[in-house]
Amino acid sequence: MNGPNRVAFAHPAQLVTVKVAQIGSGTPDVAILAGVHGDEPCGVRAVERLLDEHPTVERPVKLVVANEKALERRVRFVDEDLNRAFPGDPDAKTHEGRLAHRLADELEGCLTFSMHSTQSYADPFAIVDGVTETATELCRQLPVEAMVETGAFAEGRLITEVQTIEVECGQQGSETAAQNANRLVRAFLTAVGALPGDTVERDLPVFRLTDVVPKAPADTYEVFVENFTEVEVGTPFAAADGEQQVAEEPFYPVLMSPNGYRDVFGYAAEKLEVVEAPTAAD
Ligand SMILES: [Zn+2]
Repeated sequence: MNGPNRVAFAHPAQLVTVKVAQIGSGTPDVAILAGVHGDEPCGVRAVERLLDEHPTVERPVKLVVANEKALERRVRFVDEDLNRAFPGDPDAKTHEGRLAHRLADELEGCLTFSMHSTQSYADPFAIVDGVTETATELCRQLPVEAMVETGAFAEGRLITEVQTIEVECGQQGSETAAQNANRLVRAFLTAVGALPGDTVERDLPVFRLTDVVPKAPADTYEVFVENFTEVEVGTPFAAADGEQQVAEEPFYPVLMSPNGYRDVFGYAAEKLEVVEAPTAAD
């Protein structure tokens, strides 16, 4: 990606750079963020495509690629999960700790659209810090299946520092996730008035995370349930080395997969509401 490389001279030994570019002129208050996790290339491809096509925008947009070091190595992170490292510190011992500080600074004042991908679910969904009017209004105009509020589980995420809408674009490393990222970023830019045209409004189911679902150390893991589909009491929903875990109360699985995270299967959520799309006039 072309554009200025801005460098924070926090400490020569701790040089941390972030790739920043812009389309449109003026000071942007909207940003597109990719590559928070280095093993999720879909967002980076969407950003590269935007730069290639360089569309005429009606308000300036900042484009940021976060963790280039991890992207080059095709790993989630170098030292620690960047999306658990906010607010960060210029003198942090970890690459991601310094990067978090640098990013929070770069994105200050920008409504930020951050693209991720997952091992748990193929269809796009949005993740927000709180169910605000802005979040709901924007997310209902995105091609997403649901909006998830992180509730008590936002610690260390970018979402806590900068007004952010995160989107999960699909299965990590898939061509579909890259295509979804492109559709999502365009829908977002249209919804905020940067790109011309209209968006399609959809019914938007809204969930709130209520618990983490731990997994015991084991060699093999299984998940038996579908994300966003209610699990009834008494249903076996996962297993570690064949040992089944049974739902003690009903819940909706979110970001749940056998091997996505080291020590949790994912999250349990409650369904808050379905924000209905306005019915089209005949
Ligand atoms: Zn991610």
